[in-house]
Amino acid sequence: MLKTVRRTNMCGSLRETHIGQQVILQGWAHKARDLGGVAFIDLRDRQGVVQITVDERSPQAAKDMAATVRQEFVLEIEGEVVARTKPNSRIPTGAVEVVATSVKILAGTQPLPFALGGDAQEETRLTWRFLDLRRPELQSKLIARHRAAQATRSYLDSLEFVEVETPILNRSTPEGARDYLVPSRVHPGQWYALPQSPQLFKQILMVAGMDRYFQITKCFRDEDLRSDRQPEFTQIDIEMSFPTSDTVMEVAEGVAQAMWQKVRGEDIGEVPRLTYTEAISRFGVDNPDLRFGMELSEITDVVADSESTVIQGALQDGGIAKAFAVPSGATQSRKVLDKWTEFVRRYGMGGLMWAKVGAEGWSGSAKKLFTDEEKATIQETIGAKEGDLVLIGMGQAGHVNPGLGRLRRHIGLQLDMAVPGQFAFCWITEFPAFEWDEDSKRWTSTHHPFTAPRASDIALFGTGRENEIMTDAYDLVCNGYEIAGGSIRIHDSEVQSKVFTALGIDEEEAETRFGFLLNALRHGAPPHGGIAFGFDRSVMLLTDTDNIRDVIAFPKTTKAQDLMAQAPSVVDPEQLAELHVKNTK
Ligand code: ASP
Repeated sequence: MLKTVRRTNMCGSLRETHIGQQVILQGWAHKARDLGGVAFIDLRDRQGVVQITVDERSPQAAKDMAATVRQEFVLEIEGEVVARTKPNSRIPTGAVEVVATSVKILAGTQPLPFALGGDAQEETRLTWRFLDLRRPELQSKLIARHRAAQATRSYLDSLEFVEVETPILNRSTPEGARDYLVPSRVHPGQWYALPQSPQLFKQILMVAGMDRYFQITKCFRDEDLRSDRQPEFTQIDIEMSFPTSDTVMEVAEGVAQAMWQKVRGEDIGEVPRLTYTEAISRFGVDNPDLRFGMELSEITDVVADSESTVIQGALQDGGIAKAFAVPSGATQSRKVLDKWTEFVRRYGMGGLMWAKVGAEGWSGSAKKLFTDEEKATIQETIGAKEGDLVLIGMGQAGHVNPGLGRLRRHIGLQLDMAVPGQFAFCWITEFPAFEWDEDSKRWTSTHHPFTAPRASDIALFGTGRENEIMTDAYDLVCNGYEIAGGSIRIHDSEVQSKVFTALGIDEEEAETRFGFLLNALRHGAPPHGGIAFGFDRSVMLLTDTDNIRDVIAFPKTTKAQDLMAQAPSVVDPEQLAELHVKNTK
């Protein structure tokens, strides 16, 4: 019970056991109907709604007051809990109602800008976020978020992790995304950056001997936004000294388990492990959704000697061929297949070859491209039966894998293959250290530059075989979302320099950008490693939503605006002058 001076019970908590009790409730008029002589008010608080009845059993003053109540007025109701003559099984308090002896209006409201229970545009809701947040669905999500945070804190505390705060005003140490910058008033021309993550500070805390650190913290990245991204987001950030990757993964599984147990009362179960190479080969992506099958199989060998010019063209320059079967997919319309073809083109694939498996063999775009023998081998490899759909992609691995991999998930979701409420976790391990960036023609870090290369691969630096260098990094994936990622770190400044060289960062640049970390690494750095959870994304999964704004009290739009507070906004020219900054627009 949320104690106040006057309140005796929460609206949402009243049950048959309360019948006969005198109660004082405080809350909002969810609905108010005055039928002349009888008035019904649905009174709402954080715990739920209960019906208040004002009728011949109530004093005249209460009846007069009830007649003036409008939706979302703030009320204090005194009365007796009685059994309802017609119970309402749709609400938890539906067996009872409160017959009012007093109706007090604590606050009125201006006319409401939109119907709270209706389907107003999200922009309107975000502008009036304080009204939108009164919705029980959103309140329950914020409460679930709180529980997940509490579960995390108490679990990590039990393992003697210490929560340490790290600076928000920091120097710019790019981690891949664009920084949010803050001008310094005291140091004209100099700027702070908001942290993209506490990465360097948490590593330095290990050098400082803290042994086990965590923090539930805001991170800031000025990126183009998507539906599951926000410019400021929250991480559960973890780092520990002297671990192996197994140690960190065990702690992270414990965090996930604690959150799922506390919020949903569920175990996350055994978490399977896949190497990065295996994940790409079987699912095309490094964040596979394991709620459904439809694994990809490579069929390059099967078609390598094909006489088809289309196939030979696609396999040129080291191209590959991969396929998967959609169970009972032969019923899909031409229109749907055209959409799926469009879908894979977004990932650079030239198109999609497809065939429906019927009693008389294949029909569809792939029918004429393959010999009977090839068709039989393909079908056997991917396990396609009569009534299934065969999907085949050919071209460069960098296009075929993400194209078919994303299509696989798209189809799984579109055809409802995932059981609602099901969670399929997995670890992805052993990532390559570097990825080739076609645009800038240079190596970039798969995770970040502080990830330790495998000891046995260190000899590969400077040999042109940087693509073969693997790391001890690990990502925790759930239902196709990467919810956490981390690694064993470099704790040797010489290895760190080799990585910077491979990334095309020269010594001088490394010193200016990360000098304070490099310096720490030269002064007794313990072996260390860690991980960070995307907390918002985890809460999205925990609360069954795919809208990140549902799990953040005051979120930004996809245009990075807070519509309620109206941020960003223009500021006084004097403020800018003090900061030695001029607007060019
Ligand atoms: N700092 C990393 C990130 O934000 C996570 C980690 O490696 O611990 O992605």
